[in-house]
Amino acid sequence: MPHIQQLPAHVADLIAAGEVVERPASVVKELVENAIDAGASAVVVELRRGGMGLIRVTDNGCGIAPEQLPTAFLRHATSKLRTPEDLGKIGTLGFRGEALAAISAVSRVDIRTRRHGDPEGASLHLEGGVPGDVEAAGAPEGTTILVRDLFYNTPARLKFMKKDSAETAAVSGLMQHLALSHPGVSFKFLKDGTEALHTPGDGRLDSAVYAALGRDFARSLLPVKGRDGETAVSGFVTRPLQGRGSRAMQVFFVNGRFIKSQLLTAALEEGYRNQLMKGKFPGCVLAVTLPVTQVDVNVHPAKTQVKFAQEKAVFDVVYHTVLDALAEQGGPASPPPPAPETASNPRGDFFQTMDAKTYREQGAGQKAPRKATPPAWNTERPSGMVNLSDRVPLSPPDRGERPAARRPFPPLRQDAPSSVLGEKPEARAPAQAAPAVPKVQEIPEAPSPPERPLPPAIPQLREELPGQEALESVKREAPWRIAGEVLRTYIVCESEEGDVWLIDKHAAHERINFDRLKAGLEPPMRQALLTPAAVELGREDGALLLENLPLLEELGFSCEDFGGGTVLVREVPADLDAGDVTATLEEIAGKLRSGRSPEERREGLLHTMACKAAIKGGWVSSQEELRALVDRVQRGEVRYCPHGRPVAVRLTGYELERMFKRA
Ligand code: ADP
Ligand code: MG
Repeated sequence: MPHIQQLPAHVADLIAAGEVVERPASVVKELVENAIDAGASAVVVELRRGGMGLIRVTDNGCGIAPEQLPTAFLRHATSKLRTPEDLGKIGTLGFRGEALAAISAVSRVDIRTRRHGDPEGASLHLEGGVPGDVEAAGAPEGTTILVRDLFYNTPARLKFMKKDSAETAAVSGLMQHLALSHPGVSFKFLKDGTEALHTPGDGRLDSAVYAALGRDFARSLLPVKGRDGETAVSGFVTRPLQGRGSRAMQVFFVNGRFIKSQLLTAALEEGYRNQLMKGKFPGCVLAVTLPVTQVDVNVHPAKTQVKFAQEKAVFDVVYHTVLDALAEQGGPASPPPPAPETASNPRGDFFQTMDAKTYREQGAGQKAPRKATPPAWNTERPSGMVNLSDRVPLSPPDRGERPAARRPFPPLRQDAPSSVLGEKPEARAPAQAAPAVPKVQEIPEAPSPPERPLPPAIPQLREELPGQEALESVKREAPWRIAGEVLRTYIVCESEEGDVWLIDKHAAHERINFDRLKAGLEPPMRQALLTPAAVELGREDGALLLENLPLLEELGFSCEDFGGGTVLVREVPADLDAGDVTATLEEIAGKLRSGRSPEERREGLLHTMACKAAIKGGWVSSQEELRALVDRVQRGEVRYCPHGRPVAVRLTGYELERMFKRA
């Protein structure tokens, strides 16, 4: 029988340490949070070799009394919590009394500290958690902690450390968050001797945003401010036209603590509903403050998650604050302000896994009446409108569930041009991204029926709807005549047999690009940019791309590090529009991060490249471009876009005649 025994204290400590100290970034986080808790107004963080060489955090905070120094490194030793009741109102960043014990258990630590007003300071050295003697030492007011040889005594952990560059990137991201959540503290971050971040600490969030996230991002922001009862929201959000390719630039703080929260992300994005281009995300730096009794920060050891006592109330304040700010700068009108929210959360975990869609579906919008008229690029198709592509069902249930598709055409009305072909293609045309263009928005929810209702008989006669026949039936024949292009998106063609074909030019081109890239027969053509473009991606995304330079080369980019999360781009794939470079790199970073299998990731990247290099709906295309696309569709080479949507639909002459009651 295995013998059961209690673990020796030092082994138990090592296990506990692993929960707090996962990687260099966790050490930096704990040490900087201690400095902030100590009331520091300036904090310097130095990192060598991603923190595996050295981590040094210097602050000008209150310091520690010499006789208390060893105590600070004991487990469960804290000056921030005394009674169980204190747990219910945590106002400091630290409170577990675990960090110093955990860090010192897995490294070699030197601490030097002097309290304000004390004539002399003290120092202490610890190896694997074992303290030496406290010695009197000269020191500036405040505390300096030096951590070396992290994980030297836990080889298993050491083996799992990522590359130095990945660790540096993680610390860079963390420093940004810390700097943003404490604009009143000046942060300096030095990595391998170079200054990577320096915030003024003047108490202004905009200064911190500018210093930490860069000028371009800072310029894309609108200020927001709102309050409901004791819950206040303030900060900045991106203008609708300056959406980002990923959620990397969504930064939330709750009572000064950087957190990740699906609830807050959903509330933010709900505020932008229908104002952003599809596939774009708002960026923000939003601080939520509420009474400490209304939020539980004790739910996660790394403390990046919190639990709100009144989740819906928090959601509503954030949502309305964002909505009002967007409305003020000329966006669509805001719904009336909410009545003060008093309803408590019916289910404790109501929002824990909730995204904006679920929120809407569960009727949370009742309190937030939306505009009566959804903009044209609303993905939910207004009833009564038909998209021809619906008629080539991607899956049988899709067809069955849409009664609207039973009518071949919505009524033709002069004042509803888009209804001829149903919804516009998904926000591809640049004009659709501009909420200010009223024409585009004011598509009636359901076109009113014409004087004489269209007989529903046509499609019911046959199981198959027009255009449903796949392209199998395409024969080799005389080139289709290109009759023209409608909505700058669909090519209208006529075949020798008298069929009408509608081709989605973007989808077709995207497919052609994708197949070419996937075949990988030739390296992509490149174009050197006249002046290299400095693309600000944020530190994490920037580092991620720099780690994958060979892959970027393969896709046709030539990039290098420009420092501070900015990547300098010298060459781009020849068929990529210069204006799309930033969005493409952001999307690539997003796909690299999505950590699926290498094969899937590669496929995802090829999708991105294929899509970005394709002609877009809304663009003016030359006759030659259209001809080339039509010929390949006619030859049956392109059938579905890489996302599975059809690239072409057919209307037979007979079907047209039936619609006009000629047959
Ligand atoms: P916690 O922060 O959860 O209290 P720590 O292990 O991080 O636990 O720190 C233990 C104690 O050491 C703190 O409660 C605080 O009193 C003291 N301390 C740690 N770092 C500093 C610092 N930089 N300046 C002043 N006091 C500090
Ligand atoms: Mg602490």
